[in-house]
This record gives sequence, C-alpha cells and structure tokens, in this order.
Amino acid sequence: MKKEELKSTIRNVPDFPIKGIQFKDLTTMFMNASALKAAVDDLYEEYKDKGITKVVGLESRGFIIGPALAIRLNAGFIPIRKPGKLPYDTIKIEYKKEYGTDTIEIHTDSIEEKDVVLIHDDLLATGGTAEAAIKLVEKMKPQKIYACFIVELDNLKGRERIKCPTYSTLHYNE
Ligand code: AMP
Repeated sequence: MKKEELKSTIRNVPDFPIKGIQFKDLTTMFMNASALKAAVDDLYEEYKDKGITKVVGLESRGFIIGPALAIRLNAGFIPIRKPGKLPYDTIKIEYKKEYGTDTIEIHTDSIEEKDVVLIHDDLLATGGTAEAAIKLVEKMKPQKIYACFIVELDNLKGRERIKCPTYSTLHYNE
C-alpha cells in the first residue's frame, strides 16, 4: 500500500478533545486489515536490521502497534504506563505538560544494559511524552535507543526535542 493511500485511512476529527485540535484518529487505519499490515510492515522495514531487542510502547495508543511490531522484530514488549498501574517496582519520571505535570513509569527489571530499545507511540505531536519516555529509558542504560511513530505532526516540531534517531511513517504539516 502506498503512503498516500495509508494516510487516507486516517480520520481527521476537528475540535477533539478541545477546540482547535485536529485529532488524527488512527482507529480507522487499525480497523482496515491492509492498512494495519502496511503500518506494521513499514516500521518493520525501518528497524529489521537494527538489532532491536525490546519495543517500549507508550500508554495507551502505543500498545496497539507496539506489540505487533515487537513480534515481527522478534523482540520483547515493555509498557510505559501512567502512575499506579504497574504492579512491581518502578522508576518514574515527571514531565511538564501544557497545563501542569504528568508522570510515567516503567518496571525496574524491564530493560538490561545489553538491550537495543525501540520506543513507540502512535503519534508525535509536541514531543513532550516521547522526550520523557526517552529520559526514563536512558536511566536503564541500554546500548542504544530509537524512537518511532506512525504519524508525525511536523509543524509542532516535536522532533527537535527527541535526542535519539527517530522515524515516522507519515507526516502532516498543517
Ligand atoms: P505530545 O506529547 O504532544 O507529542 O503528544 C503525543 C501524544 O498525544 C500521543 O500519544 C498522541 O496519541 C496524542 N496526540 C497529541 N496530539 C494529537 C493529535 N492531533 N491527534 C491524535 N493524537 C494526538
């Protein structure tokens, strides 16, 4: 499937969840069997030779493609979650949002120094969430960290905050 065709399976929902946001609804991509496969295949092609041992998915939309990609890459899957959801020992990081702060957590025994980690979320907007996730994973000192997204909103310049090699399947500039 060509990228333009894949992009056409995404539904734009204006003014969700608040006025002024053009929400990219990827559920319409995920429910289309060919598009779902094309999205996973594209990320797989980008990372198949990088020696990825762990895919880290960001709650909650990173939990959709993250595990499918992990299976293709023959890697493990690790969730990064909002506070209080993970049952075992965790390390946390607090980060600034537009209004107030947020915290994310990961299990202390999830990543080893020999790991090559691919962090995944559905969409890169301002980059605040991904930047915090990278800082959290860095604390566990893996060999290398990559970040990938299905959609990147180029105009929000999130990529400038991401201090690791980054790839996105589709780009918007609006
Ligand atoms: P950010 O931290 O600003 O990069 O926001 C990234 C997170 O917010 C991702 O997990 C996205 O699922 C969600 N998000 C932000 N903006 C949008 C948007 N316009 N459409 C869909 N999801 C969005």
